[in-house]
Amino acid sequence: MRMPFPEIDVVALDCGRVRVRPKNIRGTGTPMLWWTLTARTWSPWLPVHAFLVSHPRGTLLFDTGQSPASLAPGYYPRGLVGWVFRRQAEFRVEVEHGLTAQLAAAGSSIAEVDLVAVSHLHQDHAGNVALFGETPVLLSRAEHSLLSEKDPSLHGVLVDHVGAANYRPVDFPPSADSEIAMFEGAHDVFGDGALVLVPTPGHTSGSMSLLVRRAGAAPLLLVGDLTYDPALLEDGIVPDVGDRRAQREASRRVRELIETLPGLVVLAAHDPEAETRLASA
Ligand SMILES: [Zn+2]
Repeated sequence: MRMPFPEIDVVALDCGRVRVRPKNIRGTGTPMLWWTLTARTWSPWLPVHAFLVSHPRGTLLFDTGQSPASLAPGYYPRGLVGWVFRRQAEFRVEVEHGLTAQLAAAGSSIAEVDLVAVSHLHQDHAGNVALFGETPVLLSRAEHSLLSEKDPSLHGVLVDHVGAANYRPVDFPPSADSEIAMFEGAHDVFGDGALVLVPTPGHTSGSMSLLVRRAGAAPLLLVGDLTYDPALLEDGIVPDVGDRRAQREASRRVRELIETLPGLVVLAAHDPEAETRLASA
């Protein structure tokens, strides 16, 4: 028998604004290069969330937000790759969106974070990992391997900004936990089943999500960029980025999890409703 889950407080941090091309949210099967070249419209400005998760054994930060340094010239690569980055997304990071300010507003600090986990290595999720020094940063082994690709920027990974951290690649061995049997495996962060990382690849080859199961409140699934909107995920609509087939498969598994854990709240990094959903969870 499993021990009862502890009480776990989760706070949504507001680490910037982003706007993206419509196909980046609601895909129709259009090749990414095509919409990158031809898109004329932007989504509304959307939040860039990170989540502070307070477990009795330690405080975990899931994703780290966009760095204010990204607004300075020279942050993006030169040439075509840099142009593609700027065509696909625009960011705003006001002073109050800085991670230090956001953590302070949540009653915490960089030094009080015991463990970081990043859903994937894109700049709006891993953009502030360099602030954490020796603090371990969990990411999937598949995502970690992107750092040693010949040109990680072709995968949307800016090594100069997200490469320096105390990365601890995690594997997802098969789990005996029947509630998460739809996933190939899992990484149980504190060994009590309360915080469990599961693979949800597709947006990037190593994207992962965090399941939070806790006493006295609804379970949560922090999905990074698997979707921008849980309603799209429910309808099986995935973005026109990365590997669409893998995203559909990961979304299917998440829907199965929703059926298994009634009341599960899906929190996406760029969902404007995420804070409201969290407050009512
Ligand atoms: Zn993102």
